[in-house]
Amino acid sequence: WDGPCDAVAMVAFYVFTEIEVETTPEIEENQIPNILNVPSISNAELVISHNLNDECQFVFAWKVHFYREGDKVAYIDALNGDIIKEVNNGAYFTAPTEIYGSVTLDDFTANGITTLQNSTGTVKGYNLGISSDCYSITDADFNLSQIPSTANSQWSANDAPLALYQSFHIASLAKNWLSNINMNLNSINIGVPTCSPSQFARDVTPINSQDAYVIVANNSPNSWATFDIIGHELGHSVLLANSIWNSGEGMVLHEAIADMFGVYIEYKYQGVIDWQMGDDIGLNARDLSNPQYKCYDEIVDLTRIFYSYEKGDPLRYWFYLITEGSSTYQIPALGIEKSIEIIADAINSGTINSGTINYTYQSVMTATFDVVLQNFGRCSSEFIAIARAWEAICLNTGYANWNGEVPVCNYTISGPSVVCEEDDFANFCIQGGLPNAYYQWTIIGGKSTQYTSLLGMQGNIQQGGTCLNLTDFPKYNYYPQIITIKVYSPIIGSNFTVMKTVQLNDCNGDDPNCDEYYSSVAAPITQPEAESMRYELQPNMEDIHFIKVFNSAGILINSDSYLNFNENELPANQLFFIVNLGKNGEIIKTKKYFRIGN
Ligand SMILES: [Zn+2]
Repeated sequence: WDGPCDAVAMVAFYVFTEIEVETTPEIEENQIPNILNVPSISNAELVISHNLNDECQFVFAWKVHFYREGDKVAYIDALNGDIIKEVNNGAYFTAPTEIYGSVTLDDFTANGITTLQNSTGTVKGYNLGISSDCYSITDADFNLSQIPSTANSQWSANDAPLALYQSFHIASLAKNWLSNINMNLNSINIGVPTCSPSQFARDVTPINSQDAYVIVANNSPNSWATFDIIGHELGHSVLLANSIWNSGEGMVLHEAIADMFGVYIEYKYQGVIDWQMGDDIGLNARDLSNPQYKCYDEIVDLTRIFYSYEKGDPLRYWFYLITEGSSTYQIPALGIEKSIEIIADAINSGTINSGTINYTYQSVMTATFDVVLQNFGRCSSEFIAIARAWEAICLNTGYANWNGEVPVCNYTISGPSVVCEEDDFANFCIQGGLPNAYYQWTIIGGKSTQYTSLLGMQGNIQQGGTCLNLTDFPKYNYYPQIITIKVYSPIIGSNFTVMKTVQLNDCNGDDPNCDEYYSSVAAPITQPEAESMRYELQPNMEDIHFIKVFNSAGILINSDSYLNFNENELPANQLFFIVNLGKNGEIIKTKKYFRIGN
């Protein structure tokens, strides 16, 4: 548990513009010892807090420090007296910061002394003191003795630099946000030295270390301890924890992916995305939405000093494109949560490594394709987004067609909707869809197994082929007839099944229509019956006068007076349709008949 992240009274200006919370307590302070079942409490204050129980809601609560077999903190609903949270040893003292107001820290108390680390020791803040050169500081310079402590009931500027409270607060929140996307660090150690240059932040995590080390130079009131910059440094930490070196071409990769984490961590805090690094302190550094270089091929001068930052520009832009989408490149927006998870999964997959100059982008691209194909599939919008974004920054994905577009899976069936039955041919083809996809064509309707096609039909199915070239139609008793052509691709999936109806007409007029056909079949049923068959008149309760029996292919095999009919005389083990007709030929009911016998 990371503790309630903010107390409203202190951070009101950005968190609480659109909520209403009751602020008159129903529970009085003197009731609290009873609620907690202790003789007395150390102190209690009313707070409005979010993130209690990790739920996205706000509560009006008493925050109570008390003693019961150790120092404890409880949060009690100020309206109904429920104990919301009770935690050991966490002091959750407030501390001043440079630019985020007064915050509640996830700190730790033992024996009356509160230290700047959480109760599990997985986030620690270090006051690193004076050091001449920021660049010379390494993880070996972090000592437990540098963790500030206080015997008071809140943190003050006398105990540690404001930059350290701010850094510690951000690191505490970021650690949970990172673990929520499976970027798990054992610990985060964040240190604030006073060193030169004063505008400075750096990740000094050793390669393969699961314990992150980050330094932020003390430069009050404008240190680089912002959500995006510390998020960026922790991006380096998680890459190093996953054996991705921050040197050579790997540096390009590092700086770009670190910025993705920087934007993400800041987004988690403020709830909206801004793409500018360092904007909270007016630094206005890199803008992922509009970088200097958007195309991988653009960067030719490899000798420039900021080469690693510049060459990472297209990769930053790729992340922006998949997150926000693009009408120019027809990229669907995935949102930042899904986008960062794709990157996180790619890092966790272990397939990215720093490689050689032309290998870096390729390896990230390959890893993201592996993740997306496995989790979402080729026909997903996730796939379309990342593939088109890679193409947009001038990488060759191998998925684009001749005009550079990555095709979607959706397709239609081209071909006639009306054909002449005497032509005995018709061609239907897939339009759009994936190149080389496998399609299965099925004809649905009467006599569907009697069609023939160029590639051959098995029953009513043609396996494969991007076209169904029909070469013979069956003869029907009357026209028009309607059939349905259904196309399914096992590769693309049943979500993309497409149907097309086709009407067969007697174009030269040498066959009966439905009326003519039914008026020609056995007496005594004539025109009215045919009409009723055709229009499916409402059945009524009239007595049955006549009977018609059709086999499963729709062929009339018996037409008789109802009195003469005995269904047990029909052949066994075959399916029939028995139509009962009234004295004027109207359909009373139709039933299926199948008798097992010999
Ligand atoms: Zn960096």
